[in-house]
Amino acid sequence: MSKLKLAVQKSGRLHKDSMKLLKECGININNGVNRLKADADNFPMEVFFLRDDDIPQYVEDGVADIGIVGENVVLEKQKQVREVEQLGFSKCRLSIAVGKDKVYNSSQDLEGKRIATTYPVIVKQFLDKNKIQADIHEISGSVEIAPGIGLADCICDLVSSGSTLFMNGLKEVEIILRSEAELISGSDLGTEEQQLLDKFIFRIQSVKRAQNTKYILLNAPNDKLDIICNLLPGMKSPTVLPLAENGWSSIHSVVNENEFWGVIEKLKANGAEGILVSPIEKMVL
Ligand code: ATP
Ligand code: MG
Repeated sequence: MSKLKLAVQKSGRLHKDSMKLLKECGININNGVNRLKADADNFPMEVFFLRDDDIPQYVEDGVADIGIVGENVVLEKQKQVREVEQLGFSKCRLSIAVGKDKVYNSSQDLEGKRIATTYPVIVKQFLDKNKIQADIHEISGSVEIAPGIGLADCICDLVSSGSTLFMNGLKEVEIILRSEAELISGSDLGTEEQQLLDKFIFRIQSVKRAQNTKYILLNAPNDKLDIICNLLPGMKSPTVLPLAENGWSSIHSVVNENEFWGVIEKLKANGAEGILVSPIEKMVL
């Protein structure tokens, strides 16, 4: 029987969340220390542990069927792969930064400048799109020190909190890409591999949906049931059960994380009491 071959980062910012996602999808990986590959014991999957930069190439070549990697790396490497599913972790920005005392009004201020980066392809696309002539200086790491040592006028690098920039006397002036981890696949998987990938995606979507949703349970006076049920449409409709106390019901439903506080305020304003909220592990539609 075929196995779905998945490439994940061996160590670094993507590794932990990639392994956590597999676990949440109910896939157990026995990863021995320093192993290059490992098998899942309850899903036909084999996991390869690689440098993140190499993952798009391995997926294009078919050495791995699928991979988990930052969108920034996918766009930079320009390999023939399909972007299958956004995974919501390792969020960051690819940004231009200049010395904190430098004036920067628009991307036109980059004209004629030297930009140090590990992302020459994405930077070139950005410059071309904005019709800017600048000198891209490709380096392989520690980009943030380039202006300080006179190697470049500015940099283009990944930023999450901005503290690395700050410590190096730089300020973020232009976001050229927002990135997060994503699942990529080869453009031409075999039938069995595609079926396994569909199963894997189904599990990922159930996990992601659950992460964005909370289970909510509350008590409400019966004369307010309609209005409260309208606030909590749930997956199909809320469950309503009578309480032992006359004139009251218990309502069970789900609520979207993003709307959560707004909904809670309205529920309270409409007489809801004893509101309990708990996380959901999986949400299968
Ligand atoms: P490898 O040794 O596998 O090549 P790396 O050093 O190139 O690892 P990491 O620093 O571990 O890479 O980052 C991996 C990915 O995590 C990045 O490509 C990006 O998608 C994401 N990421 C999220 N936040 C940040 C950040 N603040 N700085 C760098 N990358 C980040
Ligand atoms: Mg790397």
